[in-house]
Amino acid sequence: MGDVVVIGAGVSGIQAALDLANHGVTVHLVEREPTIGGHMAQLDKTFPTNDCSMCILSPKMVEVQRHANIRIHTLSEVEKIEGDAGHFRVTIREHPRYIDMDACTGCGDCIEICPVEVYNRFDAGVGVRKAIYKPHPQVVPDRVVKDTEHCIECGLCYDACGPRAILHEDAEKEHVVDAAAIVVTTGYDIFDARKKSPLGYLKFPDVVTSLELERMINASGPTGGKIRRLSDGKEPKSIVFIQCVGSRDMPLKRPYCSCVCCMQAIKNAMLIREKHPEIEVTIFYMDIRAYGKGYEEYYERAKGVGVRFLRGMPSDVHADNNGSGMCFQVENTETGGVTVLHPDLLVLSVGIQPTDATAALAGKLGLPLEETGFIRSVHDAMDTVGTIRPGIYVAGAAIAPKDIPDSVASSESAAMRAFIDAKKATAARVRSR
Ligand code: SF4
Ligand code: SF4
Ligand code: SF4
Repeated sequence: MGDVVVIGAGVSGIQAALDLANHGVTVHLVEREPTIGGHMAQLDKTFPTNDCSMCILSPKMVEVQRHANIRIHTLSEVEKIEGDAGHFRVTIREHPRYIDMDACTGCGDCIEICPVEVYNRFDAGVGVRKAIYKPHPQVVPDRVVKDTEHCIECGLCYDACGPRAILHEDAEKEHVVDAAAIVVTTGYDIFDARKKSPLGYLKFPDVVTSLELERMINASGPTGGKIRRLSDGKEPKSIVFIQCVGSRDMPLKRPYCSCVCCMQAIKNAMLIREKHPEIEVTIFYMDIRAYGKGYEEYYERAKGVGVRFLRGMPSDVHADNNGSGMCFQVENTETGGVTVLHPDLLVLSVGIQPTDATAALAGKLGLPLEETGFIRSVHDAMDTVGTIRPGIYVAGAAIAPKDIPDSVASSESAAMRAFIDAKKATAARVRSR
């Protein structure tokens, strides 16, 4: 059977890879980060069931690693694609990890001893990591990576590593793969909240993004599941969410709805209220988009546990020495009343956007982009994952904002189309013999 390259190893890529591999297709799963898992690995719970995100994802990550038909390429990016459906030639560039993957056991002794601490991107600014590190404890593959930008070459980790797995020198590697089809599942990045400067992100320490809150709520996250103000480490008495930050925003040229941020805010607000009924939680919104199965009921449940929903978008966030350190004014568009709030913690429900690598990758693949920067699929009523190039499919949030069930459904669809191409390529080879 012809091979398939899946680009991006978040939940969409993982699902596509498993579907294909379970049908006997050899899959090359390409991921630019040191671990597979994507954004879903950062989340605490999933809506509307409140299932633990990693409890669902981690077994799939392990299955991918153990699957005889899947080759994982981490720290890797697609550099070049030649050929057509049935016989693509894909060049994959693997960036140096400075670790001997066969010798490393993932024991973590090097992490313990490393004296350098830097901001951990996986923890979205809330936690730190070492210069030799795993982004989180359940990484796949279970290996460390050395960050040469921050390493001070103190030498301690080399001495601590029994199997001598840490490399002083490492180089980029190139892998060339023949593939019958390609599935693009590069996912999304979150909106940079600094671009909405009136909301005070990075000006006030207690203005955080929804992803930072997600890492705080997560029991295996940097605060062990405790919600804390970043200014003084105290538990907040009042939390306010502001919705549609970086979405549905014409001046920012971001007209689209990010689909997931209403439900994510409802979920986190509800989790906070259920665990800490003493914390007052308010969500300011333009509209609540609760469109999926069970979502409306979930929204009602949040109201039932005391989450306050107010229709209105706050003005600028100001410093306030008499209250929590910040305040803002908001008009309730349903009643016309104006309220001034002094929240202890302000959560910006940031929208989602294409990754910074999407445009370059789409160029290499010969695929057009939407005005929003997401990859354009054929997207008619009967084809949601095909592209203008036969044999190349796009799935998940690489097409447009999607929640996890919709992302997985589109990956399954793309995997089936790629499977058909792989089968056709094999049949063509047999006929030509
Ligand atoms: Fe353990 Fe060495 Fe791997 Fe670090 S590099 S995790 S010390 S085996
Ligand atoms: Fe950390 Fe670099 Fe020192 Fe190793 S050599 S312990 S990675 S700072
Ligand atoms: Fe705004 Fe909700 Fe759409 Fe997110 S999902 S952009 S918060 S309406």
